[in-house]
Amino acid sequence: MTTADPYFFVCDCEELRRSACRSEIFYKTYDGLRYCVLHYPGTEKHVAFQAALARKEKAQDFDFGGVWFPYAVDFSQMVISEANFGGAVFNSAVRFRETEFGEYATFGSAQFVQADFSRAKFIDADFGFTKFNEANFLDAQFEDAYFANAEFIGDAKFNPAIFLGRASFSNARFGRAFFGNTDFSGGAYFGNAKFGGLADFGDVKFGGPNFEHAQFVARVNFGRAEFSASPVFVGVQFDEVDFSDTTFTGDADFKETKFRGSADFGAARLKANAFFNDTEFEKNAYFNDVKFLNNEEREGIPPEAIASSRDRVVAFDKAKFKDAVAFGSVEFDSQVNLRFMDTTFEQPDRVSFQDVNLRPIWFASVDPRPLHFIKVHWNKLYRRKFIAAEIKTLEDQGIDTPYESLEIVCGQLAVNAEENSRYGEAARFRFIANKARSRGTWHNLIKNPSEWESWINLNPLLWIYGFVSGYGERAWQAALVLVSICFIFAAIFYFGQRDGVWWRLSTADTGTSTADQPAEQKPILRDFKEAVIYSAAVLTLQKPEPLPANKRAKTFVLLETVLGPIQAALLALAIRRKFMR
Ligand SMILES: [Zn+2]
Repeated sequence: MTTADPYFFVCDCEELRRSACRSEIFYKTYDGLRYCVLHYPGTEKHVAFQAALARKEKAQDFDFGGVWFPYAVDFSQMVISEANFGGAVFNSAVRFRETEFGEYATFGSAQFVQADFSRAKFIDADFGFTKFNEANFLDAQFEDAYFANAEFIGDAKFNPAIFLGRASFSNARFGRAFFGNTDFSGGAYFGNAKFGGLADFGDVKFGGPNFEHAQFVARVNFGRAEFSASPVFVGVQFDEVDFSDTTFTGDADFKETKFRGSADFGAARLKANAFFNDTEFEKNAYFNDVKFLNNEEREGIPPEAIASSRDRVVAFDKAKFKDAVAFGSVEFDSQVNLRFMDTTFEQPDRVSFQDVNLRPIWFASVDPRPLHFIKVHWNKLYRRKFIAAEIKTLEDQGIDTPYESLEIVCGQLAVNAEENSRYGEAARFRFIANKARSRGTWHNLIKNPSEWESWINLNPLLWIYGFVSGYGERAWQAALVLVSICFIFAAIFYFGQRDGVWWRLSTADTGTSTADQPAEQKPILRDFKEAVIYSAAVLTLQKPEPLPANKRAKTFVLLETVLGPIQAALLALAIRRKFMR
């Protein structure tokens, strides 16, 4: 057998493509290689190619592996059970409109100038490493689709398409990509994909797509998209991106994502955890009207699974915000914790929280002093068990020094509140900070008794200060203590005087009255009411009659003249603090 014999001819096309031209004879030599008419890469074969194509179509043979199409072809509305166009080169437009592909459709490594697959139906489509100039898959339907490493130089139009099974676009290269309204509920893989132009995923229905390390060079729209499972956006590079009105049913994973343009999550609804750890926001980040909701679809999940996932987290750990950040009218479900662990706000004066329900400890590891809090409601701040609840959450987060953390953050929030003339809130934060500090000393004593050096460590002055005036923040408490002092001393005077001689009249009177009225030698506070009036007079330094006669009476009167005015001064300070800085 010689290769020159046309009837014992073996085409010089790629070996794996030779099944396409089994029944073809030698056509022409190109660049020293001998080809059949199907594989010959030159447009002059036009007429001969036409005949070969007709033969194949007539035989229902759709093995066109590596075939070189010199002119526009149309396979529209055909039913092709086994299509092999792997490595085919289409030099002109090709139509597969409404074509129905059977078991498999292989287009791997094919090259298209203009491909029209609108309303085509695929069961198992392979477009791996395929090159498209213009690609039109409008209303196409896929079961499994493999577009990994495909290259779309011009527009890729999949708006909309339906992917019932797995859709892989890993490592694909796009120019402009249109996926609006597409259904990807079977799973979409865009790992390492590159989008060189605008990308539209608006209104798309996703299962849990994987965009790991994808790159978006231009604007991308995910507006109103639905993520029914957990999407992965780890390490993605976004330019400007719109996630407004999206719904995330599973965890949203944006770890190490870079947002080079502005990021808008406006009115997004998140029903599970959201991770923005190590994320970089180079431009504005908008989280306005975002709802972090309970996931009603969790019903039916075993209770132990729910227990472990009860506390949900929106984590921005180690995230970097380089520009403005807005959290306006954000809704946090009661089980959701916002976390800013080691988060960096490079322009803190451009970070704002408005009309939001917040917890102070969410800011425990950032300095909240320069942040803007507008009409913010601090969750349960005025409840009695506030500190205990905050401490518990901090401990759950693995913070070693929860009391110190709470004290510091509340101190900082107090400064923020005061600088913005929210004096009532400032007072409450200062109170919480002081209380956290004094509780912390007690807590440390119990936890590490061996490290205890002296009772001074308990900071008794702070405890007393807290007791007598709520750390100078509670006028009512100071007033209550003042009144109590008055009553306690009144009781001491009233009941104490029964034992021994407590009182004497001033010396000026004693001389004259001794002889005439010996009964008045022993002055007495006749009833408790008089004792209260007497006590009040001592407290206000009036030096009332009768004077204390014995040592005990003198001691108590002296004690009240010391304690009373101090407490009165504390009351005055607490009142003053209510109105002034
Ligand atoms: Zn051939």
